[in-house]
Amino acid sequence: MTSLLKTPQESPSQEHRPYIGKILLQKELPLELSTHFTKIPSIKRKLLYNECQRCGNQKRFLFGIIPCAKCHQTHLYCRNCIEMGRVLECESLFCWTGEAPKWTCYDAPLSWRGTLTSAQQTASNKLVEVINEGKKEFLIWAV
Ligand SMILES: [Zn+2]
Ligand SMILES: [Zn+2]
Repeated sequence: MTSLLKTPQESPSQEHRPYIGKILLQKELPLELSTHFTKIPSIKRKLLYNECQRCGNQKRFLFGIIPCAKCHQTHLYCRNCIEMGRVLECESLFCWTGEAPKWTCYDAPLSWRGTLTSAQQTASNKLVEVINEGKKEFLIWAV
């Protein structure tokens, strides 16, 4: 049986950690870890639109066309995620399919054990009151 509240687990190996869940360009791919990645097409041409497999962009105006020195033809590239390095149609992306991330589960997430000052307590009470009354605006100024 799985429980929502797991005890902290062994974290993935330090070597894998920076790459888990990532989609990389060929030039970013660490050779020694390449077996943990699966090659996927970078841009899928669909009937009505194209789709960048790294950022999910489907907007026509966010694709550019560039001549490719390797293939001697023009290719699509994604302008939406170009800041992370150009995704060119003829180049594959490499998607992490190795070990899954193991997240630490905390017993009491987003909780705080402490004591509010009386002014904070007053503000807190007022805020809860406003939320319960369904009022939309309430300004709290805190430092
Ligand atoms: Zn993209
Ligand atoms: Zn090419």
